[in-house]
Amino acid sequence: MKEPAAPTFRLGLIGDPVAHSLSPAIQQAALDALGIHARYELWPTPLAEVTVRVASLRKPGVLGANVTVPHKLAVMALLDEVSPLARQAGAVNTIVHRDDCLSGDNTDVHGFAAALREVLPDAAGRPALILGAGGAARAVVLALNEIGVTDVVIANRDAERARKLTTDLLPIALRVVAYDDAVLSRETERCGLLINATSVGWRRGESPLPLALLTSLAPSTLVVDLTYRETDLLEAARRRGLTVLDGLSMLVHQGARALELWTGRDAPLEIMRRAAEQARDTRGDAA
Ligand code: NDP
Repeated sequence: MKEPAAPTFRLGLIGDPVAHSLSPAIQQAALDALGIHARYELWPTPLAEVTVRVASLRKPGVLGANVTVPHKLAVMALLDEVSPLARQAGAVNTIVHRDDCLSGDNTDVHGFAAALREVLPDAAGRPALILGAGGAARAVVLALNEIGVTDVVIANRDAERARKLTTDLLPIALRVVAYDDAVLSRETERCGLLINATSVGWRRGESPLPLALLTSLAPSTLVVDLTYRETDLLEAARRRGLTVLDGLSMLVHQGARALELWTGRDAPLEIMRRAAEQARDTRGDAA
């Protein structure tokens, strides 16, 4: 006799745009490896449709969703509960549907902390220079705080936005500096961790700071770019013999934590990592 088909659960990515995302490849590989009958879909959602989209997560069989730009803040008001970390980060990137309750969480913080620990287990105590003050920079600050990196400098084009970040994240102590070449030159000399959390660098020929400044970095400096692929910054740092980390590992770790929240199962990290690399390398333009 034929076994009744296992129910197919649904998950998806809410954002606008979402077509370029690597998350379907990463999550589907993990769900299949775990033998969970679920489909991870793309749910392109203009702002006017966010309320309806989030309400649709309450349907039977929907395990939850990821949330990406520009809705990470907007979805908060539509959920039954939001974790303290997501509130602090000012961003929900994962929604879990359980017992008719929608809970919001932030797994980007864990994603960055886990990715950093893999390449630099002894990051605590290093001075960090973060370029950018958007959502990703907030997650990085919280992750560094968790790891024990306490000397953190923020440089952002819009200084007001950087100051708002420091106020929002109190009592974490942050120093804001001007986003100009002379100041960046001084700050690169003293940092042991340089993190590009701006959206600059995705295209070749772009860099968030003059590449000549890399010569002033100490040889032990780790250069991180949250972009998911090779950038001019990472290439130049590697040429100087510095250790580098791109954003793919953070993406995989945030996805792994989200999967664990939805399913209660341990994430198959290496399978997710391979799926991410494969999707990135075949697509070339993934964000
Ligand atoms: P936001 O839009 O929230 O912030 C963008 C940041 O980039 C701001 O600090 C902005 O400065 C800065 N910026 C944009 N254009 C310029 C420019 N021309 N010159 C200088 N600074 C500029 O984006 P997110 O914080 O969400 O994302 C930032 C990057 O991190 C993106 O590339 C994103 O793909 C990546 N990311 C990677 C993740 C991962 O898992 N690897 C997770 C999340 C994000 P200003 O405030 O002055 O406008």
